[in-house]
Amino acid sequence: MTDRKTLLDRLKKRELFDLLVIGGGATGCGIALDAASRGLSVALAEKGDFACGTSGRSTKLIHGGVRYLEAALLHQDRVQFNLVRDALHERGVLLRIAPHLCHRLTLVTPLYGAAQVPYVWAGLKIYDLLAGGAGLGRSRYLGRAEMLRRFPMVRGEGLKGGVLYYDGQFNDARMNLALALTAIREGAAVANHLEVVGLFREEGRVAGARVRERFSGETWEIRARCVVNACGPSADLLRRLDDPEAAPLLRVSSGIHIVLPREFAPADGGIMIPKTEDGRVLFILPWQGGCLVGTTDEPALPGENPAPCAEDVSYLLRHLARYFNLKVAPTDIKARWAGLRPLVHDPSAADTARLARDHVISCAPSGLITIAGGKWTTYRKMALDTVDYAVRTAGLSPHSGCRTDRIVLQGGEDFRNDAAASLVARFGLAEEEALHLHSSYGGRAEEVAQLCRGELKKRLVPGHPYLKGEVLYAVRLEMALRAADFLARRIPLALLDNRGAMTAAPAVLELMARELSWDEARVSEERQELDLRLGVAL
Ligand SMILES: Cc1cc2nc3c(=O)[nH]c(=O)nc-3n(C[C@H](O)[C@H](O)[C@H](O)COP(=O)(O)OP(=O)(O)OC[C@H]3O[C@@H](n4cnc5c(N)ncnc54)[C@H](O)[C@@H]3O)c2cc1C
Repeated sequence: MTDRKTLLDRLKKRELFDLLVIGGGATGCGIALDAASRGLSVALAEKGDFACGTSGRSTKLIHGGVRYLEAALLHQDRVQFNLVRDALHERGVLLRIAPHLCHRLTLVTPLYGAAQVPYVWAGLKIYDLLAGGAGLGRSRYLGRAEMLRRFPMVRGEGLKGGVLYYDGQFNDARMNLALALTAIREGAAVANHLEVVGLFREEGRVAGARVRERFSGETWEIRARCVVNACGPSADLLRRLDDPEAAPLLRVSSGIHIVLPREFAPADGGIMIPKTEDGRVLFILPWQGGCLVGTTDEPALPGENPAPCAEDVSYLLRHLARYFNLKVAPTDIKARWAGLRPLVHDPSAADTARLARDHVISCAPSGLITIAGGKWTTYRKMALDTVDYAVRTAGLSPHSGCRTDRIVLQGGEDFRNDAAASLVARFGLAEEEALHLHSSYGGRAEEVAQLCRGELKKRLVPGHPYLKGEVLYAVRLEMALRAADFLARRIPLALLDNRGAMTAAPAVLELMARELSWDEARVSEERQELDLRLGVAL
């Protein structure tokens, strides 16, 4: 039941929850799903929208992290090694529980020095071995001629060959939403646009939080036996609501992406440069009909809507020119956005690119549990560890252990690989539109298509497969409450094509205004918010 009013009523009326989760990114929604499916009573408050933080601004790879494997081998670092092994296991689980949102992606790493060939080849063979039964296909060596034929944008001078391997790619924002909706289905009371503005204690222990609803301004208290801080890069800000003297746990780092027209990406896969001269990783990937290029890694401060700065954009353009036969002009950039990595603080590491991407669970003297670090690929393991920890320390009584490796996420239940064709036949959709509905809504695509009739069957903007009827579906069944919730997360338009999102905005505003009974003032607030945010990221 995704009726928000009912969910808010439950959050207001229930006297005591077992668990209150603060933050509705991948980590928070993963915890809510895990705990609710073990029979615990769960509340979750997200101050913006699901995936409005880091979880909607990732590189969209479900991966073990080839680069972390290198660090593990070079430094004989057990933490990094375990992270790669766990992540490869999780990669297999995610492809299984969200088959509509995740798929296998072919990647290639070009090799230049002769010494690199056996080194990278052996590294990727270890990657295959670590994946074990969850492997997506064997990595293999490609000769120079095959590399240049299949990946003509790779620089030819000095090229020896390449190694082809497989990882996963996914729709991060819709996966985050699917986690929230599945948690609700399992009994959790989950709300977006509900901010935690304070924490309160009873007998010295944190006993709940004061929340404020974004649109009515109403505030109330939610009481819980155990409170979990899953605020990602804002985790330290939340910890200071509990203890103003709390020492920082995180080192935040920002990473940007730019999106170029599809023709800049290889026809059948992505390219990864594992180590640029300055030690960064550079990706160029096909994604949702565009070409995704990333990323950077710069120390940053926690903030709600980080904007990619001009320097970071020129850094990516410079590196594209250095590593690829691509002439990219700033005017080719269709969209850009930045995300903040919630890295676990290590006072001895000077460079954020070298901080461990593993997660830590820390408990304050008040009992407030903070989960931080990790990566998207490992959200489920992070959730499992956090719920186990909460059960132990707060004496909760779940009726079962963790089951999330078997809970198929919303949309994945009745997913059939060949269902897009029947959407074309039954609803007269163009093939591109049917494929979009199929890979976004999975087994629920028909439900969406039913809504897309008459005027609502029209596209929101030429050149993209998004349909007007999807706006109604998002409002009615997917908790979209703001225009940006729809344009940047229910569909990825704002992250793919800023100008396209601006063109679609009036129709989205009109449909949402009608559906949600917005008055003129609210429409104009939404319009201003879009004007402010579009052009960077939402
Ligand atoms: C550039 C970049 C690329 C990445 N690429 C990948 C990748 O390809 N693959 C991968 O596996 N990982 C990747 N990651 C890492 C991954 O995206 C993050 O580890 C993950 O999304 C973190 O999720 P989270 O839920 O902890 O944080 P977030 O998604 O930031 O969620 C925290 C939430 O808490 C909410 N919040 C904050 N304060 C409050 C409050 N007071 N009350 C209520 N709610 C609050 C925020 O609004 C936010 O939604 C990438 C990260 C970056 C930055």
